Amino acid sequence: RASYRFDDQISHFRAGGRVPLGLKGKRLRVLVTGGAGFVGSHLVDRLIARGDSVIVVDNFFTGRKENLLHHFRNPRLELIRHDVVEPILLEVDQIYHLACPASPVHYKYNPTNVMGTLNMLGLAKRVGARFLLTSTSEVYGDPLEHPQSETYWGNVNPIGVRSCYDEGKRTAETLTMDYHRGLNLEVRIARIFNTYGPRMCIDDGRVVSNFVAQALRKEPLTVYGDGKQTRSFQYVSDLVEGLMRLMEGEHVGPFNLGNPGEFTMLELAKVVQDTIDPNAKIEFRSNTEDDPHKRKPDITKAKQLLGWEPTVSLRDGLPRMVSDFRQRVYGDEKESTD
Ligand code: NAD
Ligand code: UDP
Ligand code: UDP
Repeated sequence: RASYRFDDQISHFRAGGRVPLGLKGKRLRVLVTGGAGFVGSHLVDRLIARGDSVIVVDNFFTGRKENLLHHFRNPRLELIRHDVVEPILLEVDQIYHLACPASPVHYKYNPTNVMGTLNMLGLAKRVGARFLLTSTSEVYGDPLEHPQSETYWGNVNPIGVRSCYDEGKRTAETLTMDYHRGLNLEVRIARIFNTYGPRMCIDDGRVVSNFVAQALRKEPLTVYGDGKQTRSFQYVSDLVEGLMRLMEGEHVGPFNLGNPGEFTMLELAKVVQDTIDPNAKIEFRSNTEDDPHKRKPDITKAKQLLGWEPTVSLRDGLPRMVSDFRQRVYGDEKESTD
């Protein structure tokens, strides 16, 4: 199989040899699907900063050009509007596959996880690129093991309202491992736990973005169910560091990438109140179907094999997200009254 290698010597020369090189000292051409989204755009920032050339493929379903605006004059970034459910021909060294409608509001009835992953694996196979799948803690479903380690197979409802997402990602993991075992493709699998930070989609219904936007808009924080369900919240820079270490390292995974700090939704609401508005009210709403009762990563494997662990706590990370949301929420309100 032909293997494509970007001409790192020329790009190193063009960059004046000053930009810090990638983890293995090579400059690469990297495809980031979903790179205009929340996690993807932060990953693109890091790849561009280390001197790589980056191709972003995104259909702007939940992503925004604004997330990459600061790179638009940089010839090392190419942005392609494309739905990964359709085939595409590109020549790259590495593929970070993030494209996916990632929140309950958006992911229903969407074949991206299966068809999109198949196409990106086909592309990786054709050019001999290393492929990283961003899977999710949702593969553990409503877990019967706590905390969840990578050896746990999960407790997922195959026909429920969330199954397009969690079963879709489970199928994506299966496809990834089949291409690895059957065709010798170099693959990596990350199981990402709830992540927050600047550039999160404001209205996609995830709990941190909902609470922060609600507190800024002086609306009540909507707690679903009794608010005693737990999640572990990871700041986006920690995740991006983990994804890059995984891609550059020698281990296939899957690896849990998440912050083991565990909070109930009521505790999260309290942190948001303390950070933004101590007078913010709480309003209880009925919970969604099949909502996992608890979730917390066991990250022993990532610590041992990737030398990775999160460094930003929720109380430190939340204020960094709030300043970005403040600008966007108040900007939107100003626009709508203009
Ligand atoms: P996001 O919605 O901000 O980003 C997803 C991006 O994919 C968006 O830019 C969207 O426009 C694009 N996209 C969606 N469908 C596409 C398609 N068919 N073709 C091309 N582009 C498409 O979400 P995110 O939080 O940045 O998530 C990135 C990845 O990480 C996803 O695969 C998600 O499943 C995974 N993940 C995220 C979290 C989290 O808490 N943020 C947790 C677990 C897993
Ligand atoms: N594919 C793609 N870009 C490529 C190579 C393949 O989008 O550069 C798509 C291809 O159209 C197919 C999928 O990836 O739908 C799987 O490709 P593969 O070659 O593995 O399978 P095959 O086409 O042999 O079934
Ligand atoms: N949730 C909530 N209020 C909201 C949005 C979500 O209480 O406004 C709850 C939701 O029921 C779930 C938890 O927060 O128990 C995390 O939801 P999210 O959609 O952010 O992530 P996921 O369920 O995928 O972990």
